[in-house]
Amino acid sequence: MKGNLIILTSPSGGGKGTLILQLMANNIGIGYSVSYTTRKMRDGEIDGRDYFFVDDDDFKARIANNEFLEYAEVHGNYYGTSKAVVDSHIAEGKDVILEIDVQGAKSVLEKMPQAVSIFIMPPSFEALSYRLTTRATETTEHLSLRLKNSFDEVREHKDFEYVVINDEIASATRRLESIILAERQKRVRQKEAIQDILNSFDASRQRITGD
Ligand code: 5GP
Repeated sequence: MKGNLIILTSPSGGGKGTLILQLMANNIGIGYSVSYTTRKMRDGEIDGRDYFFVDDDDFKARIANNEFLEYAEVHGNYYGTSKAVVDSHIAEGKDVILEIDVQGAKSVLEKMPQAVSIFIMPPSFEALSYRLTTRATETTEHLSLRLKNSFDEVREHKDFEYVVINDEIASATRRLESIILAERQKRVRQKEAIQDILNSFDASRQRITGD
């Protein structure tokens, strides 16, 4: 069976990174799509794990080579989802999760409407602002740009199938995981496995019932 494409989005500081770390720790067979970015590496980040960190020229060459499923300029830097990274997880039969901004998420959904789309909603503007401020990863200027962008971004939740309110990490992770597990149980997503089971019943039907 092919894996599902799961699009996870939120305003910057919405907590999707933390939720994904928790989710990956639970080992439910999900691949993470590492994006490319032109943003500077932060302390503690690792190239190839958090992002592939590249310069503007490298990023533009990848656009020209049609390597991205989507890319966007977010808060002044470029970010892009690699087709090859996504395809390799899906081909392995794993679900693959994209942690991307709202514009990128909408552009992937247009191309791949069968994707599972999840919006992580901060519990309030104050909570988002507190999280971004205490995370202390941004300059004051970048911080206020991210907060300003959040006013429009929260309104975009309407284009997503699921909304997880990130009020408490452990509970929000459970809700997120339950969406992913439930999506795997959809009949249409299990056609091959179901057919194998039906074949085993058909093979025994005549022997047992004589029909
Ligand atoms: P950060 O700089 O805080 O790591 O990420 C800034 C924003 O860019 C976040 O909302 C993050 O989800 C988003 N982002 C990360 N990777 C991608 C990507 O490949 N494409 C798009 N469109 N957004 C991304």
